[in-house]
Amino acid sequence: MLLSKCARDCTLSSVSRRDFLRGAGTMGVAAGAMAALGGAGVAVAAEEGAAAESAYGLACETGWVPVKKAACPGPRGPVGFEDREIAADEIAATEDCDIVVVGAGIAGLMAALKGAEEGANVICVEKMTKGRGCFECFGAVGAKCQEGIEINKVHLLDEMYRAAYWRVRPEPIRTYVDRSGEATDFWQAMLDKGANGFVISKVEQAPSTNGMPAMTQLIDTELGFYDSPCLPPDAGVRSGYSGIYVCLEMQEVAKQYDNLQLRFSTPAVQLVREGERVAGIIVKNADGTYGQINAAKGVILATGGYDANPELMEAWTRPEDYATSSWWNPGWGTTGDGHLMGIKVGAQMDPCPQPVMNFRWGNPDSFFDARTWNAIYFGLMINPEGKRFVREDLPFQSVSNAQNAQPGYGAGCFQVFDENMMEGMGDDATIQEFKDKGWLFEGATPQELGAACGIDGDNLAATIERYNGFFAGGVDEDFNRDLATTMPFTGTRFFALTTNSCVLATGGGLTINGDCQVLDIDDKVIGGLYAVGNASGNFFAGNYPRHIPGTSIGRAITFGYVAAEHAMKGE
Ligand SMILES: Cc1cc2nc3c(=O)[nH]c(=O)nc-3n(C[C@H](O)[C@H](O)[C@H](O)COP(=O)(O)OP(=O)(O)OC[C@H]3O[C@@H](n4cnc5c(N)ncnc54)[C@H](O)[C@@H]3O)c2cc1C
Repeated sequence: MLLSKCARDCTLSSVSRRDFLRGAGTMGVAAGAMAALGGAGVAVAAEEGAAAESAYGLACETGWVPVKKAACPGPRGPVGFEDREIAADEIAATEDCDIVVVGAGIAGLMAALKGAEEGANVICVEKMTKGRGCFECFGAVGAKCQEGIEINKVHLLDEMYRAAYWRVRPEPIRTYVDRSGEATDFWQAMLDKGANGFVISKVEQAPSTNGMPAMTQLIDTELGFYDSPCLPPDAGVRSGYSGIYVCLEMQEVAKQYDNLQLRFSTPAVQLVREGERVAGIIVKNADGTYGQINAAKGVILATGGYDANPELMEAWTRPEDYATSSWWNPGWGTTGDGHLMGIKVGAQMDPCPQPVMNFRWGNPDSFFDARTWNAIYFGLMINPEGKRFVREDLPFQSVSNAQNAQPGYGAGCFQVFDENMMEGMGDDATIQEFKDKGWLFEGATPQELGAACGIDGDNLAATIERYNGFFAGGVDEDFNRDLATTMPFTGTRFFALTTNSCVLATGGGLTINGDCQVLDIDDKVIGGLYAVGNASGNFFAGNYPRHIPGTSIGRAITFGYVAAEHAMKGE
């Protein structure tokens, strides 16, 4: 009992210290930033060690405590943040504006346009050659296009807190629920200024059968761009790439504002602090020189998450959330720069492990969106032992979590189905193409299929037999899947399609209040500093709740809008 108390304290303190060192050491950045936060962790560790010693007469040895980690196989984007003193004579030019927005993703574009509409002189800098904008749908409450739809705000609030296991303070979620409708209307008004006729409209949802309380009429908040005739056929409406076109349209609209400048290939590398307040940023210009941009009203960090920064993924997220994943995000600017710049000036950040938006549908070699294979809606998820491990009709994130919890972080799992589940899905040429890629296997029996793809065929046969048996009684006794929306195995050709989870984004960030102002580690507002979208925290905890429609883009557009509005109030 005494030992377990001591071990628990040691684990808590040493994990945080080790993880921060890991992030700082490997990246060669953020030593000071990590000290700003990690320093507090070290002090706590020392105190806890001392407390353990005096209470139990035991010295607390921390070095041996094992920490489960895995190498992150994801992409490595260019980190903008620079953890060093930038001397005054390195600054080639200084300029002034009202609002600086860092990042031209969806949250940043919303902030920039809202600021410009409010009459601010806005400079929005983007590190990459184009802003990132991946989405197909989003959530909002009370937008004009939702007129006539009843959305119970109390239920939505309750479900969002529940989804975060109440590990968040209420204000940011309340801001989303209260203001997302207004932000959506503003978004549509901005798109109306564009040439291409993008239209936000309601996504029809049938009441859920997926075992979660949302995606039903209870929380009928989902909106999207599916009715926009301008979306080209290759827009990937169903795989999240339509958002790229929407963001390009917003960039075009931004050109209509004389008081708004969008600058690409211009990373912010540091925040400028004057006394207690953040007064601007330092950017690195394309020619390698540095510039300072002073912002009289505020700096809005809209830098997204850190899914393209392997060291931060390893330090701040769970190993199972990335170890065997592929990456679905085509823009690699999301390297946690806003997080690091914020921490450097004393900001507080969400505790670790932070949530990763990880979905099913991945493939070991690519961004392949397995949703194009209808059969997987009917088939089973099978691990290398030939066993089911999840209710297959759960929301994407939940299926992905379950797969990642399998041995080897879910490597070697398959979606198994038969030819009768493949109706409308593909011809033999497609099947052959996938076989040739090494992704699809076939057998005349479950045993033969098992031998072909390397899973336990006898177990697979037993699993299929047991699953088929559930249809007589209408109850999936193992996972409570809705059998009315699927079918038993009746065919003579058995298929297994490789699958793994995909990383889309990260969801943890700098601690903010309901106005998107960043808080320091004493919970005081850092004047002049805002964080929005995936750079902001205090919203998701532990998991991305995919059963609630589009809270990621919903948060991004709402917070961009709210932050710019608040900055202009000058409070
Ligand atoms: C394929 C895919 C599909 C998705 N579909 C959906 C969906 O349907 N619904 C949903 O809710 N969510 C979806 N998401 C998640 C969603 O894309 C993100 O949560 C959202 O884009 C976050 O917006 P953001 O503005 O905070 O960050 P981002 O869109 O990531 O933008 C951040 C920008 O900041 C830039 N930046 C970073 N550092 C700096 C710096 N130092 N200086 C200047 N610029 C910098 C980056 O280059 C980037 O352009 C999807 C994600 C993917 C990958």
